[in-house]
Amino acid sequence: MTFLPNRAEPAVGVAVPVPGLGPLTYRRPPDMPIPPRGARVVVPLGTRRVVGCVIDPAADAPPDAELRDIIAVIDAEPFLPEQVVDLALWVGEYYVCGPGDAIAVAIPPSARGEGDAFRLRTRVLPVASGSDAAPRGPKQRALLEKLQRAPDGVLQRELAADGIGADVVRRAAAAGLVRLIEEVDERDPFAGRERGWAAPARYEDGRELTTEQSDALAALIEAADARTFRPVLLHGVTGSGKTEVYLRLARHVIASGRQVLVLVPEIALTPALAGVFRAAFGEQVAVQHSGLSDGERHDQWHRIRRGAVSVVVGTRSAVFAPLTSIGLIVVDEEHDGSYKQDETPRYHGRDVAVVRAQMARALVVLASATPSLETAANAEAGRYGLVRMNRRVLDRPLADVRLVDMRREIAATGAETALSRPLIEAIEHRLASGEQSLVLLNRRGFATVVFCRACGATLECPHCSVTLTYHRAARRVRCHYCNYAVHVPRVCGECGDQYLEHAGVGTERLEAELRERFPSARIARVDRDTIRRRGAITRVLAAVARGDVDILVGTQMIAKGHDFPAVTLVGVVAADVGLGLPDFRAAERTFQLLTQVVGRAGRGETAGEAIIQTLYPEHYSVQAAAAQDYATFYAREMEFRRAMIYPPVVAMVNVVVRDRELDAAMAAAAELAARIRPRAPGVRILGPAPAAIARLRDEYRVQIFLKGRQRRVMREAIAAALGERPDLRRRVTVDVDPVSVI
Ligand code: ADP
Ligand code: ZN
Repeated sequence: MTFLPNRAEPAVGVAVPVPGLGPLTYRRPPDMPIPPRGARVVVPLGTRRVVGCVIDPAADAPPDAELRDIIAVIDAEPFLPEQVVDLALWVGEYYVCGPGDAIAVAIPPSARGEGDAFRLRTRVLPVASGSDAAPRGPKQRALLEKLQRAPDGVLQRELAADGIGADVVRRAAAAGLVRLIEEVDERDPFAGRERGWAAPARYEDGRELTTEQSDALAALIEAADARTFRPVLLHGVTGSGKTEVYLRLARHVIASGRQVLVLVPEIALTPALAGVFRAAFGEQVAVQHSGLSDGERHDQWHRIRRGAVSVVVGTRSAVFAPLTSIGLIVVDEEHDGSYKQDETPRYHGRDVAVVRAQMARALVVLASATPSLETAANAEAGRYGLVRMNRRVLDRPLADVRLVDMRREIAATGAETALSRPLIEAIEHRLASGEQSLVLLNRRGFATVVFCRACGATLECPHCSVTLTYHRAARRVRCHYCNYAVHVPRVCGECGDQYLEHAGVGTERLEAELRERFPSARIARVDRDTIRRRGAITRVLAAVARGDVDILVGTQMIAKGHDFPAVTLVGVVAADVGLGLPDFRAAERTFQLLTQVVGRAGRGETAGEAIIQTLYPEHYSVQAAAAQDYATFYAREMEFRRAMIYPPVVAMVNVVVRDRELDAAMAAAAELAARIRPRAPGVRILGPAPAAIARLRDEYRVQIFLKGRQRRVMREAIAAALGERPDLRRRVTVDVDPVSVI
């Protein structure tokens, strides 16, 4: 008997962008060079061809497996840097979504398809002397003269403005007078629509830091210089001047030869920060966020990949930016819920940033005036460093806050109005003195319910278990979860009565009330209905900054990070909108929103005032926000989390099973829970039970909550249970460290 030498086939591990799928193994045809880790390859998947990413260039071929061949290797060099591949693999495991989905987030959209979509442009270069051809005609002469003054050449399209057309250039090149090269054309995302807003004149270089700022900066510089993993909470009250600290710290880190990544919750809402970095560091800054066109994003991504930038400012997916020598990551407004992606992979940008800093042995600064309980608890336990800034710059006082008890207000006036008398008076005062007011109501639409006066029935979404919101301008009722919309019915669908009424105030009605009461005031509204069009929010915010708006009305969008020095009054209508939600973070979100919005008042030279209308003036989150007292809120809220065993006291995973039939969803969830339980010792498993929003887009939703100390145990138990029932995969959502559980 002869034994053939055991020669394994050359195999490659590839992550493909299919939810929940583990890495796949493909055969490398013998004449194909080994693709490096991080390179993109085209592989067959079922009947399709997809672009995947190499995660293991020399994988072990599983025995007896019929491997399919890699079709093509797109990149000879790694497309994703090593560290980004590692980070994505970490995300795939931690969030139980598999590597493919995680890798897909790290690759810009335009590069996920086949090939690569560079836009090219032509540069015209002078030819080193020696050409004996002489220029012909005035246009060629003008071209050569221009090039004499531009040793790096000029773009062909810029010559057109001087009347030197493409044909002139082409003939000059053919005659050997000039040289042409094609280069990648990078669109500047700061050009055009974003420019006015993104480059504020306010950045003043070299101004003197306050004592608190210099102390904070010194502590952070020391942490950065350690060149090892350092997570630090920068807890600075609103208006304490955190931006200036980021800038100086960034400058220090760049000077030490390393790169800086700055994450912001939503670019449209924090354009100022991107603008300030751009003003300070110019071309060294790249931005990455979903508001850019695919082309712009692609160009910026490649600039980063080439090592042409020192700073990246972006939203959560920028945490995967292809930087290779990060020395500092700043997570601005780290408490913000928009860092968490609400579709697979359900990663939290802040938490991934911490892991990335760990991989890069870098400093990560989590900054906020209202830190998340998770981050504050980590700082309290000493796992994170803590740097505090307790005062506003130039000793500007925090706004004076007044609570208005709306139960008394309604009893006293009997009026069905959204605005209390103190708030009306305060706005009048601002209008008279030419100062700006900001009025927050965290609920869009005109009325929140439409009901029948005869039988009491409310209009509900036919696809979701929620009531429909009345939008007056659109003359429709709309579901805020699935976007279903219809004309307001004339009669009640239940009893046929024609007396349909609406109740509950949203921002649209609030704006109408303000217009009625203050007819000559310039009023603008910001919510998801008014800023649908690209750039709309930028325009409104710029108008506020210019002083062209007297009253800005809006949802939580107006509460975030903006620095409007002329705003001296902040009004909050219905501070308790979020308190009624069946979500363990309801109080935390309310506290953060109120504190942040109150922090928008009095950032300029004139002191600020805030008026908070509420039905629960005694609630601790309202009280603590009014006093701008984080410590008291934190202590109370931690007490609640401990008593109820909620994060950050434990780790939590929310498993949601969906089905068109409630019974089927319940049964599948029960089976899943039964498979998870024996594999997860020490883990509390709650449910299955219908979710707070029991039906969404025609599917019932049943939840299982897992609470435990070790995420790994929970993750592995869930993965194993799903491994036994792969058919359930499509109907199951696994949310590790959920931010919203309704
Ligand atoms: P935060 O992000 O902490 O809420 P900002 O960074 O927006 O605060 O700063 C608040 C305001 O104070 C801004 O208008 C900023 O330009 C200004 N500012 C910051 N640092 C200084 C300083 N050292 N001297 C004067 N003004 C400052
Ligand atoms: Zn709906």
